[in-house]
Amino acid sequence: MSAPSPNKIPVHEVDATKKRIHPRFTDGFYQRIRLFSMYFLLFLFLVLPWIRYDGRQAIWFDVPSQHYYIFGLTLFPQDFFFVASFFIIAAFTLFMVTVYAGRVWCGYACPQTIWTHLFQHVEKWVIGDRNKRIKFDKQPVTASKVAKKALIYFIWALMAILTATTFVSYVAGTELMYTSWQSIGGIIPFPDWPSWVWVSMFIFTFATYANAAYMREFMCIHICPYGRFQSVMFDKDTLIVSYDYNRGEPRGPRKKGTNPDHLGDCIQCSMCVQVCPTGIDIRDGLQVECIQCAACLDACNEIMDKVGYPRGLIRYTTERQLVENEQSRYLRPRLAAYVLILTVLIGVVAYALFDRVPLQIDVRGDRNQLSSTNAEGQVVNSYIIKITNKTQQRQEYKLSISAAEGLSLRTRMETLPLAAGQSYDLPVSVVGDPKVVGKGEIPVTFNVDSVDGTYHASRSNVFNSN
Ligand code: SF4
Ligand code: SF4
Repeated sequence: MSAPSPNKIPVHEVDATKKRIHPRFTDGFYQRIRLFSMYFLLFLFLVLPWIRYDGRQAIWFDVPSQHYYIFGLTLFPQDFFFVASFFIIAAFTLFMVTVYAGRVWCGYACPQTIWTHLFQHVEKWVIGDRNKRIKFDKQPVTASKVAKKALIYFIWALMAILTATTFVSYVAGTELMYTSWQSIGGIIPFPDWPSWVWVSMFIFTFATYANAAYMREFMCIHICPYGRFQSVMFDKDTLIVSYDYNRGEPRGPRKKGTNPDHLGDCIQCSMCVQVCPTGIDIRDGLQVECIQCAACLDACNEIMDKVGYPRGLIRYTTERQLVENEQSRYLRPRLAAYVLILTVLIGVVAYALFDRVPLQIDVRGDRNQLSSTNAEGQVVNSYIIKITNKTQQRQEYKLSISAAEGLSLRTRMETLPLAAGQSYDLPVSVVGDPKVVGKGEIPVTFNVDSVDGTYHASRSNVFNSN
């Protein structure tokens, strides 16, 4: 590969012919931040389904009953607005972070990166560091090789099953996942899961195993669209891990303790390539494969320390700083636009959440008996009132109407008790004397109030006295 131009950070196309990558594990300032971030997120993923709130799993997307619990908030399919808003806010946050700090999501937080890292650690634990793993791949098949491979596959399978079980727990609930057992032949315990849980378990176990054991960087390079978007989102002031070719070139090996005038600071040790989880050479410029994990940065700093050169031959920088030798601009229009959009979006969602009444009422005319006349000559209109208790506690509701004089509500229930999350279709009638209320369509408002006076909801409809 020729040395890159000093006037521009070159952008390289993907090399799809690469063999399996065995990165060397490295340590350093950014790797410690990265590991902290990855293990913290992993910890959250594993622990969150076990947290209880108000006697129930705190985060539970209970798809079969269509109730979605997030601590004190219960969402229903009708609350799609909040779910959609969450994804829109997450997408804009990702765009904003990318404009400012590049692919920090890929390097520090993406599940693909985290699980690939974990699976590679298993290989390192069983076989050894990079050189041993490369050698191991080339070795002929022996009993010891088969045993080591079997051990790796077994641990990977356990990790994939644990991942799938945790993931499905967010939907099926930990209670169903871990406490429903049957036995085969009265001896061997076996999970007593419904078929959809088995199918989900199979899909997520397979996906985790395939992604982390085999797909790895292939997923980032060829399948994930985010890596491809980056060139659109990056600008000259986006933070990127970059090699300082002005300082490093011409690269070349040298005797220890010397610094020949005809050479730059890159001693051609290849450590930056060996530690790269996607197997690229950062010295070739900006590449789609680079997940900005900063492993090359930490490895190169360690080398610089050893040879007595200043750190930062590979560093977090911007194109403006590195190529044009100018100060980076942190406040720029695109970033300001993202901040503005996010502020508005978060404000609207927060207001909607704050304003949300956890009580829903829907009114529809009873198709079977829309309007009729009773024995006393009164007009009777029938309705079905659907009341949904969206709180996480049992509530008792009473129903009333606001309407013109002469109209009254007939219902067979004084009050309606509803369990948390329960819906009920209550048939009711509105009765009116046509001589008092007149002819035509008369507006009626149905009110539902919790007996303790905390919640109120209403819906308008019409009374037809023709
Ligand atoms: S680690 Fe640093 S010195 Fe070694 S090859 Fe990479 S850029 Fe050059
Ligand atoms: S080039 Fe450096 S920052 Fe990019 S993926 Fe490889 S090691 Fe990570």
